[in-house]
This record gives sequence, structure tokens and C-alpha cells, in this order.
Amino acid sequence: MDTCVIVWFRKDLRVHDHQPLIRAAKSSLPVLGVYSFDPDEYSDTAYGFTKTDLHRAQFIRESVTDLRDTLSDIGVPLLIRHEHPANTFASIRKEMNIESVFLHEEIGSEEQQVEQAVRSELPGTTFVVDHGHNLYHPDDLPFDIQDLPDTFSQFRKKIEKNGTMVRPSLHPPKHVQGADLPFNPGEPPSLSELGLEEPEREPRYRGGSSNARQRLMGYVFEKDRLRMYKETRNGMLKEDDSSKFSPWLANGCLSPKIVYEQILKYEAERVKNKSTYMLYFELLWRDYFHLVHRKHGNRIFFPSGLRDVEVPWNYNKAHAEAWREGKTGYPLVDAAMRELKETGFTSNRARQNVASFFTKNLGLDWREGAAWFESQLVDHDVASNYGNWLYIAGVGNDAVQFRAFNVEKQAKDYDPEGAYLRYWLPELKNVPAPWIFNPREMGMVEQEQYDVILGEDYPLPIVDLLAAMQERKSVFLDAMQNE
Ligand SMILES: Cc1cc2nc3c(=O)[nH]c(=O)nc-3n(C[C@H](O)[C@H](O)[C@H](O)COP(=O)(O)OP(=O)(O)OC[C@H]3O[C@@H](n4cnc5c(N)ncnc54)[C@H](O)[C@@H]3O)c2cc1C
Repeated sequence: MDTCVIVWFRKDLRVHDHQPLIRAAKSSLPVLGVYSFDPDEYSDTAYGFTKTDLHRAQFIRESVTDLRDTLSDIGVPLLIRHEHPANTFASIRKEMNIESVFLHEEIGSEEQQVEQAVRSELPGTTFVVDHGHNLYHPDDLPFDIQDLPDTFSQFRKKIEKNGTMVRPSLHPPKHVQGADLPFNPGEPPSLSELGLEEPEREPRYRGGSSNARQRLMGYVFEKDRLRMYKETRNGMLKEDDSSKFSPWLANGCLSPKIVYEQILKYEAERVKNKSTYMLYFELLWRDYFHLVHRKHGNRIFFPSGLRDVEVPWNYNKAHAEAWREGKTGYPLVDAAMRELKETGFTSNRARQNVASFFTKNLGLDWREGAAWFESQLVDHDVASNYGNWLYIAGVGNDAVQFRAFNVEKQAKDYDPEGAYLRYWLPELKNVPAPWIFNPREMGMVEQEQYDVILGEDYPLPIVDLLAAMQERKSVFLDAMQNE
């Protein structure tokens, strides 16, 4: 039997800045790459919808195909299977001796359980685990993980005061001795094999590190958008309002260190301003949520969150469904939720608003909202998703006691012409500002004039915005007092 070493790819679908691949290449044994589409990741959640819907599934399929091609360019075959990873490793072991497995660390408990199952299949094999998902290496932080500050702002100040350095990104090996496969390398499963339907529209973002690089260079240098990021980042409609790096960052097609290096290059060659700092600042938020997850473990999934506040969340199937389908009667919420369902993406501003509406107006259990985001988002990242939901729900890392977004005011402030709302809500396409922000206030005359009948073409509001918010505020503050 041949002996090999394995690079096990999970949420690190790239060859650049990949320490496990470099270690494997240096091992002087033939190298095999492995990726398993784990059926558990495509199963139904307790809420009745799938854990990974078609947008992310399609993105991952494309990313794995791209990974296979880029690995092949340096001589490494990629074994692709649709089964539990433990089964994949068990069948490899029947054909080959596996000396070592090189992999990046995943901090999620589900991922760690899967890793344990794989380790149990390979008792004599060495596992070498590296950190590879963040700007800052955990060993370089100026504090122990248990002392991670409770707010982002304190964390940022500590990092900046200490002058913590981002380690340089790593070049991929030029040529690697690949393993000879005694079996078929396999293909990514089709969407229907994953239990999903074909998408109705072309994917908004295409997976793979080649597309990641194209977006990075296009946004930063070719379109020269980085210089105005701070001014445009809250826009909801245009692709270049923000970087849109998240789908590739979340699936590991792009290393955040590469983004950081391009920011520095841009600052040296073109301009260093508040926008260039702001993009780094956002990447730091990402690091922060990953550290929060590392520190608190499964507590980030508790309904009481990090604050340990027992908030009595509501359960209302009809409200949850109206929210998911974009039929709440509040245009900003509806536009964002339809965009999310149709494309797997919506902007940060929109995410904040719909999450606030879900928890602070409807008063629903934030975990159901987070699970829907997990299902739909092409850029789903456990720590960023659950960390942001905790924050918005008021049980995470926000020092403010009760913070709620007024979704009508936010629409006026961030979409003053109503262009975003009209784009995603065709039934309101003839409704001008200011009616577009609160269609419920239109009388019969306006409804006929603008060709929309409330309650028929567009829903009436499912709750009274301000009354519901006041009610939730008192429920929340009572819960805080009993903390
Ligand atoms: C309720 C909620 C859920 C979210 N879920 C996710 C998620 O599952 N995955 C995810 O990557 N982001 C999540 N975010 C954060 C943020 O909305 C997205 O990262 C951002 O919209 C992606 O667009 P962009 O790449 O154009 O961001 P940009 O504004 O261009 O920011 C650059 C990068 O910084 C990081 N970043 C920016 N804002 C945040 C933030 N608040 N938290 C963590 N990282 C951030 C992302 O990696 C992003 O790609 C969530 C935010 C909210 C409010």
C-alpha cells in the first residue's frame, strides 16, 4: 500500500496562504487533497428549512471545482466525496497508509465533532492543525483568550496600542509531489443530489479563489473604489457600495491577510485615508467575532446569549414566515428579505435592520432568524452570523441596553429615493417617495394612482412598528433587571 499525507480542506478553499498545504508539500511524501460534502450540512434544521440552501451550496460547488483545478496545477489531486468525512477517510485508509493529516482549525463545535470522528478512524495518523482564518494569529494577541474584552472597541484599542502585527501571507508551493489515486477522484454533487432545486437566476457571486482575486483587484485597484468605501459602505443597492469580499472570505477562497496586504499596497501607491482604515476596521470586526466564538464556545448559540439574560422571546409561525418571505408590510424589511432569498446576500445595513425588526419589533427568538440567515447566506460564517445576531438581539457584545432600528426611518436615511425598495418590491414600482417608505399611510386615492392595493398587492403591516417596539423594550428591560 502506498503511503501519503492528506490536506483536508473545509472552509479554506484556496491554495494561497495555506500553511497545511505548505507543510504537506514539505513532508516529502505524496500529497492528496480531500474535500467531503457532509450530508449533515445539507439536512433540515429544527425550523423546517435546510441548513444550507442553494446559494451557498452552489458557491461551495464552484469553489471546490476551482480548488481542484488550482491544486492540479501544482500537482496535487483532490478527492471529492459526498458523504460524512469520517467515511471518506475510512475508505482512503483501506487503500493507502495515511501518515499525517494537515488541516486548518475550525472553532465550531459541530466541525470539531466531525474532526473527532475522523481522528477516531485514523488512530495511527498524526494530525497537524494550523490557524488560517483571521488577520491576527491567536498566539500574537496581547491577551489570553479568556481576557478578550467584552466590547469590540476595547479589543480594537488593545490591538492598536500593542502594535500587533499581521503575519505575512504565504505563497503556495510551486510544485508538489501528488499521490497516485487508486480510486476515482470524484466530482462535486449536483444541487439535486444535495436535495436542492436549481436556482431560478444566475448566481450573484461565483465561487473559487480565481473569482475572489478578480473581485479583490477589481474593487480595490481597477475600479478604485477603496478610496470612497467609508462614504458608500452603507448603500444597499449597488455592487460596489461595499467590497463584497464576504462570500470568498467566509468560504476561505480568500485569505483576510491577502486583503490586508492589498490595502497596504493601495495606501502606499494611491491614497491612505479614512476609507482604507475602515476596510481594515471591518476585517477586525470579523476577527473579533471569531475570538468571541473561541472564548464563549457554544454560548453563542444560547437564547440568553453572552449576557445571560432570559428574555421571553415570542413564538409566532405566521410572523416568522412573513419575515422570511418578505411580506411584513414594511418595505425595507421586505426588500432585504426578498433579496436574501433570491440571491443569498443582502448588505450589512439591511441585515442589521431585518435582524432588529425580527427581535425588537416581532420579539421572535433570535436563533430562528440566525438559522434562516445560515440557510440562505452565501457568505455564512458561524461566528460572524451568530455574533452579529447576538449583538442585535441585545444579548451579545453591545454595551447599550436596548438598541432598536426604526426600519422606516432607516429606509429614508439610507435609500432616500426608494430605489432599493422599488428594485426588490416590483408591486411598489410606481410608488414615489415619501409613500414608498410607509405605504400603509396611502389612502384609496393614492393606492389607485400608484397601482397597488394594500392587503392585496402588498401586505398591510403585520405589527404596529412603534407600539411593538415599546412593548418589546419593556419586556427586555424587565428581563435585564432580573438578570
Ligand atoms: C445579523 C447579521 C448577520 C451577519 N452574518 C454574517 C455572516 O454570516 N457572514 C459574514 O461574513 N458577515 C456577516 N455579517 C456581517 C456583514 O453584514 C457582512 O460581512 C457584510 O455585509 C458583507 O459585505 P461586504 O463584504 O461588502 O462587507 P464590507 O463592508 O466590504 O466589509 C469587508 C469585510 O469585513 C467583514 N465584516 C464587515 N462587517 C462585519 C461584521 N459586522 N461582522 C463580521 N465581519 C464583518 C466581512 O468579512 C466583509 O467582507 C452579518 C451582519 C449582521 C448584522
